[in-house]
Amino acid sequence: MTTPVVLLLDPIPADAVGDALAESFRFAGASDPILSAFDAGAGRGDGIFETLGVNDGRARGIDAHLDRFAASATKLDLPQPNLPQWRAAIERVLGELPRTGQASIRLVLTRGNGGTPTCWVTGSIVDGDFPERTTGIRVVTLSRGYANDVGEHAPWLLVGAKTLSYAVNMAALREAKRRGADDAVFVSTDGFALEGPTSSLLLRQGDRIVTPAIQHGILAGTTQADLFDVLTAEGFTCESRRIDTRELLRSDAAWLVSSVRLAAPITAVDGTDVATDPELTARMNAALLG
Ligand code: PLP
Repeated sequence: MTTPVVLLLDPIPADAVGDALAESFRFAGASDPILSAFDAGAGRGDGIFETLGVNDGRARGIDAHLDRFAASATKLDLPQPNLPQWRAAIERVLGELPRTGQASIRLVLTRGNGGTPTCWVTGSIVDGDFPERTTGIRVVTLSRGYANDVGEHAPWLLVGAKTLSYAVNMAALREAKRRGADDAVFVSTDGFALEGPTSSLLLRQGDRIVTPAIQHGILAGTTQADLFDVLTAEGFTCESRRIDTRELLRSDAAWLVSSVRLAAPITAVDGTDVATDPELTARMNAALLG
């Protein structure tokens, strides 16, 4: 099989085992028509997804991604995914990807058309070497339009779920480019830094590493969690808390981190250069790739 790889999953109950599981996959061609024009995922972005980073044939953080996938399904009142089925699907797609180099795997579950979810997994080779892991990214701060505690008061906004409704996130990236930057950091209306449109925010302040706490309306990042383990083992104190937007300018280093691009050091915020830590960035990316 050549990449990209597409594997369709028959939706099965979350607790189904045995034969139901074994017979629930089908490979498709990359340009096969797998989706109805009436699918809620296509028409309304009503569904959830996950993107996993793959290096040399191994996917990072499968458990963490599956846990977040299940949590997103709960938040959207979608049927619970059968996690052994999705894990087996990831393994099948991994088996079709090259044994060396970087790739990504995406899990998608939509509300489907008429009550049955539509489910698929794709695998794609990642082109290029992500020069921004060393050269860095310039970011602009962009309002998310609500206060940092919105998740507690308006759960229907789904702030902590990884939904297919990413049009706003993509618009923020285009706005960042229009302003001459590479990426964005969303900020709350009450002045707190939240996350990037497709990434989590990490700051170094001396021997402390801080990230916005998830109760403040952001996605729980799997890369951030892995880096907290790595950095705690290095002797850093890692904490999740509210982060005043002004801290972006006065930290010793800042990164946007995510599963495929990994740790991209922030070199400028709203046109002002900020401090970077190239050695620590290199260690973080080596650990994520290792
Ligand atoms: N925040 C948002 C809004 C994202 O879309 C992503 C990833 O796509 C992240 C954070 C980082 O999550 P992860 O590290 O699990 O890739």
